[in-house]
Amino acid sequence: MTQDNRKPTTTDAGIPVASDEHSLSVGPDGPIVMHDHYLIEQMANFNRERIPERQPHAKGSGAFGHFEVTEDVSKYTKAAVFQPGTKTDVLIRFSTVAGERGSPDTWRDPRGFSIKFYTSEGNYDMVGNNTPVFFIRDPMKFQHFIRSQKRRADNNLRDHDMQWDFWTLSPESAHQVTWLMGDRGIPKTWRHMNGYSSHTYMWANAQGEKFWVKYHFKTDQGIECLTQEEADRLAGENSDYHMGDLYNAIQRGDYPSWTLYMQVMPFADADTYRLNPFDLTKVWPHDDYPLIKVGKLQLNRNPTDNHAEIEQAAFEPNNLVPGIGISPDKMLIGRVFSYADAHRARLGVNYKQIPVNAPKAPVHSYSKDGAMRIDKVSDPVYAPNSKGGPAADGERYPTDSTWEANGQMVRAPYALRKDDNDYGQANDLINKVMDDAARDRLVNNVVGHVSGGVEEPVLSRVFEYWKNIDAEIGRRIEEGVKANKGL
Ligand code: NDP
Repeated sequence: MTQDNRKPTTTDAGIPVASDEHSLSVGPDGPIVMHDHYLIEQMANFNRERIPERQPHAKGSGAFGHFEVTEDVSKYTKAAVFQPGTKTDVLIRFSTVAGERGSPDTWRDPRGFSIKFYTSEGNYDMVGNNTPVFFIRDPMKFQHFIRSQKRRADNNLRDHDMQWDFWTLSPESAHQVTWLMGDRGIPKTWRHMNGYSSHTYMWANAQGEKFWVKYHFKTDQGIECLTQEEADRLAGENSDYHMGDLYNAIQRGDYPSWTLYMQVMPFADADTYRLNPFDLTKVWPHDDYPLIKVGKLQLNRNPTDNHAEIEQAAFEPNNLVPGIGISPDKMLIGRVFSYADAHRARLGVNYKQIPVNAPKAPVHSYSKDGAMRIDKVSDPVYAPNSKGGPAADGERYPTDSTWEANGQMVRAPYALRKDDNDYGQANDLINKVMDDAARDRLVNNVVGHVSGGVEEPVLSRVFEYWKNIDAEIGRRIEEGVKANKGL
């Protein structure tokens, strides 16, 4: 598409590209192919922008604890970590997304909620957030999204106009933006928020039966949030407020916990469900797929060296164990490549030998050499071999967490289903979940945010965006912003 007099996007080699928005996939709903070199160039470049700070989720901290299975979900998964009575050591890191390592904990932003389970079958990571959805649904847009939330090139300032420019040109963001501008956009502490996988994953049981699942870690401390005014005050008084709260709670023996519930969708339902169940901008309504209790996660030990144990911690959604797999969610497929690549860029190729990242299960891999190699390798250094080296056991560990995919390779959005639209679940959140007082706070938060620097032509699009979500809320936002700006 030619757009006014803008220059065409190219690869770093100057080759014009076909799309800024869509990765190359097998059919609109199928997997992304590895030879999408432009997508990979974008991801790889993005991952190397900053050294050594994380890009994004730079500001955060975490703690150690354990996860204990209290119920029996073995009919859904054979994963050892989720078998009845199993207790597994865990590490969690909480974070904000957009701010740098020194930025205030109380900025309005989603929070990262990353868990590493040190299971008997190797490390299992669930790299989640405190929100059940996300702003976008194709990894082609992720790098652009994060840049729009960070800093401008010229003055190095964050810029609300840039944020709303991206959001209003990306209507799939409506649900997450509504969530973010609501009460839960600033949790009181990390202890008082939920964690969600957001993505849909696959579980497979011992009989090979497959299910689609979503994880919900519900806080046992209860949900508590900060108002914009409280958060602004704390940002000035104590920019490390959340980090200090978690550390001090654990030091005094007040161990925070979360109860894990799953939503479980029978494998075949995915074909006919009224929403695309792999679209990261949508939840599965609880009425359709109720929460099933699994167990409890508790944090009870602080790190003693924050750099060694938290800053160097590397969470990666590709760390999956037998009985757990990914789904056709394009964002998840992108992350399965991108996180490990980010760690290789930030920490070096042997980052899994850093003690906090090393599994408690034995490692018998054929990886070899590289910068900062610590574990020694021994011969034979190749497979197959007749010299007694490790041999893959496909019978015991089959490739079973997969799905069928076939189709023409295209760059296209997901095919729409009956109830797929960008605004419906955002409207549900406003009208079915929030009360009058919460809706007033939502309007005030948006009016305050938009009044701080959003100009035409973005401004009119902001009013349109909110009217598409809810006509009355949109009208109130327009009225409030125009009054503030004297328009
Ligand atoms: P339900 O009434 O069953 O669930 C509503 C959910 O909203 C609860 O999980 C509740 O969490 C959460 N919630 C309450 N207040 C807020 C808030 N201010 N901001 C964000 N979340 C809040 O409804 P449905 O499952 O049909 O979903 C309706 C809407 O609720 C969705 O469109 C979505 O925006 C939101 N939601 C849905 C979730 C899901 O997985 N289905 C998860 C979280 C939010 P709690 O129980 O902790 O109070």
